[in-house]
Amino acid sequence: MEHSTNMTLIENLHHQLVNRLRSAELRFGRTPGSVCLVAVSKTQSPEAIRAIAALRQKDFGENQLQEALGKVELLSDLDCTWHFIGSMQTNKCRDIATHFDWIHSVDRLKIARRLSNLRPASAVPLNIFLQVNLQREATKSGIAPEELISLASAVSELPNLQLRGLMAIPEPEPNFELQRKVFSELRELQHELNRVLDLTLDCLSMGMTDDLEAAVAEGATHVRVGTAIFGARNFRK
Ligand SMILES: *Cc1c(COP(=O)(O)O)cnc(C)c1O
Repeated sequence: MEHSTNMTLIENLHHQLVNRLRSAELRFGRTPGSVCLVAVSKTQSPEAIRAIAALRQKDFGENQLQEALGKVELLSDLDCTWHFIGSMQTNKCRDIATHFDWIHSVDRLKIARRLSNLRPASAVPLNIFLQVNLQREATKSGIAPEELISLASAVSELPNLQLRGLMAIPEPEPNFELQRKVFSELRELQHELNRVLDLTLDCLSMGMTDDLEAAVAEGATHVRVGTAIFGARNFRK
């Protein structure tokens, strides 16, 4: 296949983003390489994913099941780790539980139960983030902070899931200190869950193209970055 200018562009953007992440780790005293970069490949072609997988990018995030399944199949020769980051519906749980390794967007018990029931017995437990609607935005998914303890308690008991931590998508906010403040709230909530429920949640999924430094400063273990790696998103056909 011809190596198009577009692919070279994506490779350069990926390289720059990795450097940006490494500088953030250094600046905020995080262990170099400790923050997992989830490359959000929604709307991007399998060829684009292949190009950056060749640069040792292993983790990819998708938010639409149908689109994702096609790519997972086409790229099954690669050693990718697939993250589901989209809104969850009960009728999608079987495929999600079968084809993904991490789910960032669980926000109700019914979905968690189905994922646990439908996770193939041969597979390792599915890694779960609970999505929190930190700023209580009416249009956004995620559980309200005050309901989190009961959800986390129930999810942590499910046999085929491994509850790993919390995820949030804050409102766009240009001010760095205010970005940090919201992310610190998620970190505090997680700390509180660990204390109250005697859990050992060790992951935080927070930070995207425009706020990843603030997220790294506040302890993100997984940043989910699309635009800064692939350029502007394609329109869905
Ligand atoms: C699209 C998406 C991202 C990536 O956003 P960018 O601003 O392109 O980096 C991260 N998280 C979720 C849940 C998304 O849907």
